[in-house]
Amino acid sequence: MISLCTLDFCPLTQQKRMAKNIKKCSFCGRPESQVGFFIVGIDNAQICNECALQASEIVKENATATKSNLPNLKKEQLPKPIEIKQYLDEYVIGQDEAKKFLSVAVYNHYKRLMQENTNDDVEIEKSNIIMVGYTGTGKTLLARTIAKKLHVPFAIVDATVLTEAGYVGEDIESILTRLLQVADYDVKAAERGIVFIDEIDKIARKGDNPSITRDVSGEGVQQGLLKLLEGAIVNVPPQGGRKHPDQKMIAVNTQNILFVCGGAFDGIEKKIASRLNTRVVGYNAGKENEQVDKHNLLQYIAPQDLKSFGLIPEIIGRLPILTYLEPLDRVALRRILTEPKNSIIKQYTKLFKMDAIELIFDEDVLEYIVDKAIEFKLGARGLRSIAETIMMDEMFEMPSKNIKSLTISLPYAQSKIEKANVNRLKTA
Ligand code: ADP
Repeated sequence: MISLCTLDFCPLTQQKRMAKNIKKCSFCGRPESQVGFFIVGIDNAQICNECALQASEIVKENATATKSNLPNLKKEQLPKPIEIKQYLDEYVIGQDEAKKFLSVAVYNHYKRLMQENTNDDVEIEKSNIIMVGYTGTGKTLLARTIAKKLHVPFAIVDATVLTEAGYVGEDIESILTRLLQVADYDVKAAERGIVFIDEIDKIARKGDNPSITRDVSGEGVQQGLLKLLEGAIVNVPPQGGRKHPDQKMIAVNTQNILFVCGGAFDGIEKKIASRLNTRVVGYNAGKENEQVDKHNLLQYIAPQDLKSFGLIPEIIGRLPILTYLEPLDRVALRRILTEPKNSIIKQYTKLFKMDAIELIFDEDVLEYIVDKAIEFKLGARGLRSIAETIMMDEMFEMPSKNIKSLTISLPYAQSKIEKANVNRLKTA
């Protein structure tokens, strides 16, 4: 009978003991020397760092494939266009035309999403939207407010950073990265979301002849954008930026994503004016010319003006809803200060109320804020920076004082603005 020696100094016993002590990954079987480190579980189970990483990827993938926190849309729950517009009215001042167009387009878009069960051959096409209007007139605000009403993921992307694949800048697909992030990587929710592409005018073709030079941030990007707008399955880099071969992609179907594009289209009035002029040369001349409101030419915008500006016809075709925003006049700016549900003044009042302080603005202070926004050509965006400059010292000091009420008077507001650096206000 052969029995193994159990004496400590026996070389065989020592070898056997060492072999027993070598840690191995319970998943891939590799010893500690071939991996970074082990995570140890109960009953001597252990996993190496590499297997742990792989396991985490698998968990993430499964989670993205299956989870969707978004309840199924039901037609009865879908707000009607009038309801959508009324909701927009609570947050956005004026812009009735744009609100109407948006409400109808969005309503039809979500109806389209529900059409799957119908058996007829009528297929409702996508109603992507393009809004033209000066900067700071409420384009983003409109899109954001609609998304809030519908409880769908909403992402804002800036077209200026996009370039054709292979050039410095971001790939077109990164537009969807933002949406995925906002939807917490819930692909199904993202696939029903709304993407607002800001500054779409910045990817207009430069010059009339597309073949003079490579136009990597113009026509090339428009071509890339086409498939996204019309609906395609796109591989999206989860973290955005440039794609690289080792990166894992998430497939997103853009078929039911609503794209809302916005742009200031600086100088498009000239194109509109020249189109209107050439038209009035015809047999209807004179009559039409009389009706043209030269101070607000944007209201006459038509798809051919976008083409003259440098958008390719295919893109224009995929943005069938074209609407415009009015420039904001004095009355609109004054209303923006106090009327929207979360107006700037309401926000300050709430902030002070949380410190048990009643905040009152004298009426002439509000007029003064509007005057300054107009004087510095800051538009609606400037209202906040001006109000912030007036309120900063009080917001700093009041919470430490035992005062129950604060009134902001005109001389006080004037003193704060006069002391402020106007350039800082302009860039705010
Ligand atoms: P745009 O996208 O047209 O450049 P925004 O929607 O970003 O402009 O507007 C900037 C800010 O100005 C908004 O966050 C909002 O506070 C204010 N604002 C602009 N237009 C309106 C409006 N019509 N009604 C209410 N607030 C507005």
